[in-house]
Amino acid sequence: MNKLVYRYRSIFRRYLLNILSSGAKPHAGIHILNGHFLSVNNSASPEIFQKLLKNLNENGVKFINFEEAVNRIIKSEFPKNECLVAFTWDDGFEECFSKIKPVLDTWNLKAAFFINPNFIDGDSNYRENFKKNIVLTDKNPMTWQMIKQMSVEGHTIGAHTLDHLSLKTEDKDFLKHQIEGSKKIIEEQLNVEIKHFAFPFGQLKHISNVGVEIACKTFPYVYSQDNYRNYFSFGGRVINRRHFECDWPLNHVLYFLKSKSL
Ligand SMILES: [Zn+2]
Repeated sequence: MNKLVYRYRSIFRRYLLNILSSGAKPHAGIHILNGHFLSVNNSASPEIFQKLLKNLNENGVKFINFEEAVNRIIKSEFPKNECLVAFTWDDGFEECFSKIKPVLDTWNLKAAFFINPNFIDGDSNYRENFKKNIVLTDKNPMTWQMIKQMSVEGHTIGAHTLDHLSLKTEDKDFLKHQIEGSKKIIEEQLNVEIKHFAFPFGQLKHISNVGVEIACKTFPYVYSQDNYRNYFSFGGRVINRRHFECDWPLNHVLYFLKSKSL
């Protein structure tokens, strides 16, 4: 998308959300939030995320570890009165390790990080193209060493395909290469079974039925970033997450913690 159009769209969206979210309150349910980085601004301080967590907590939100949230959703153990929130981040940017993890540590909270092996292993040309044309941000990836430490400390590492390309295709060879290939490389690097997969771009329109089939055959748990008022999409096979970023205003995040249906 044209950068200027993107900028105006996000200003308008922010303005609209300011109006819609005034007086927003969290609702009972299990919410899996999905971000990408601390902030688009590379010099932002982790304090902004710490402040958001503190404010959410003071507004009645309770944080739970990612895998506990998933287990409860799968078993339909939904809270009647509590608003439970778990966190995930996609694309594996370096600040997940250097800025987000330290904040999670202060809450003793475990999250999930969905990564693209070719972004980590790619040469400088590959990375520049990935940042400029695919994820549209000037941020470098975590190293395998950082990712290993996250995994050892109890965070979940998930796959996000090899190259972060759309899976809206019927091409089985391509889909298998991207989906199975990412699982294989991460498992070789971390020496743990990778059970969680989030497809790139996240909207339901960004994956074909064949893609969902292959993903669900390869991984026990598959995630979108869409349809968040329902726990599941694709007939119960895909768990939905809600987009957020660490530097969003409190009310905007509260606004998305709505009641959910199955
Ligand atoms: Zn992504």
